[in-house]
Amino acid sequence: MDDVLVVGAGPAGSVAATVLARAGAKVRLVDRVSFPRDKLCGDTLNAGTLAILARLRLASPVELRSRPLDGMMVTGEGGVAVEGRYPNGLHAIAISRRVMDEILLQEAIHAGVTFEPGITVQGASVAGDRGERMVVGVTASSRGSVHPWRARVVVGADGRRSALAFGLGLAAHPAAPRRWAIGAYFEEPDAAATLGARPSHAPRAPRACSDFSDTLLGEMHIRRGRYIGVAPLPGGVANVCLVKPSGPGDPDLRNPEAALRRELGADPLLRDRYSTARLVRPAIVLGPVAVDAGGGAIDGLILAGDAAGFIDPMTGDGLRFAVRGGEMAATAALDALEHGWTGVHARLTAERRREFGAKWRFNLVLRTAVAWPVLVRAAAVGARVLPAAVRAMIEYAGDCGVARATMMES
Ligand SMILES: Cc1cc2nc3c(=O)[nH]c(=O)nc-3n(C[C@H](O)[C@H](O)[C@H](O)COP(=O)(O)OP(=O)(O)OC[C@H]3O[C@@H](n4cnc5c(N)ncnc54)[C@H](O)[C@@H]3O)c2cc1C
Repeated sequence: MDDVLVVGAGPAGSVAATVLARAGAKVRLVDRVSFPRDKLCGDTLNAGTLAILARLRLASPVELRSRPLDGMMVTGEGGVAVEGRYPNGLHAIAISRRVMDEILLQEAIHAGVTFEPGITVQGASVAGDRGERMVVGVTASSRGSVHPWRARVVVGADGRRSALAFGLGLAAHPAAPRRWAIGAYFEEPDAAATLGARPSHAPRAPRACSDFSDTLLGEMHIRRGRYIGVAPLPGGVANVCLVKPSGPGDPDLRNPEAALRRELGADPLLRDRYSTARLVRPAIVLGPVAVDAGGGAIDGLILAGDAAGFIDPMTGDGLRFAVRGGEMAATAALDALEHGWTGVHARLTAERRREFGAKWRFNLVLRTAVAWPVLVRAAAVGARVLPAAVRAMIEYAGDCGVARATMMES
């Protein structure tokens, strides 16, 4: 029997598996799909996450395939725009999840993890009665047949729609916020001129915002009730993600490309760049984005990454929660393997709250503000009067403090 079965080979699962295998555990990592695989995301990894990957000796191959971002451009209603650069030489990166997740998976395999693609976990195998429930493995299907898989610890890193967390009643979509995401890759408007002529890590100004900066920036365009993130990726491609309130009857979800082009075409700051830009791949839609995983814990199972809860991608936190959360899940699993389950969940919950609590609250404030037109207008006025406050928020959202603390401790 494996010591640990990790379900889901996204960043949370691969990092958890790597940390466990390096500590000597026998680890099996399964995913329903083969890698490399696409994943709808804003494709930015902030400075804090990069520092954590560096501490885990996982950053170098990721950085090699990325473009560095020196800061963020935040724009609001009425054409207000504030550029915030990360301090002290810190930077974020833009990298496609197809590339990054494959790199992290290969690192896990290199650390000794056994990886099996094409395994779809259907739910947890639970022993005991209601009071004394214990996860002892999973049921999973592969090539048409269903098998039980047993392990001493199961790490559920199977993403926002976690079969393990939803199946056990540990997670659900909250009534609010109900936001959907539409993401696509566009050829950058000037890509034909620059493609191949410039190394992927060389800085280039975002075209619409080139008046503001000669460095490469991620972009967050906040509008009433919705926002659009833009990340300039290697190879002259831009990731463009729209997050908006929606629901199952919304025709935009049936034709995401048209919805995205309509939003971009109506936006004074973005229409010149993207109204006629070529789509590299069909637009993808995903939602509802938010998952509330406040439903408790069961011995035998540790949740990590989005499976442990995800609310809104606005502040670009998901990958730090996945990477650091994967590491914390691995530590908790090692603790359980060595000493039993007493206190494991309580310690993990306290640690997650200590590490992520302030950012959860920051995200709550921002996403609530976006939902109120009057607050979006007020924020635009505030940004004009006090751009330093927006710059401080950009630094905070970029986890620059986390980066500094992580670099000092390693
Ligand atoms: C629109 C949008 C934009 C975002 N932008 C950013 C950003 O710019 N920066 C940032 O830091 N975060 C961002 N995020 C958040 C980030 O994408 C997630 O937090 C991150 O992907 C979580 O990683 P994970 O490993 O938990 O899950 P995932 O990356 O979703 O990986 C889960 C894995 O589990 C597998 N799986 C699922 N179900 C099963 C099953 N039943 N059996 C077996 N395998 C299964 C899947 O195939 C997948 O490979 C964004 C999110 C959204 C929605």
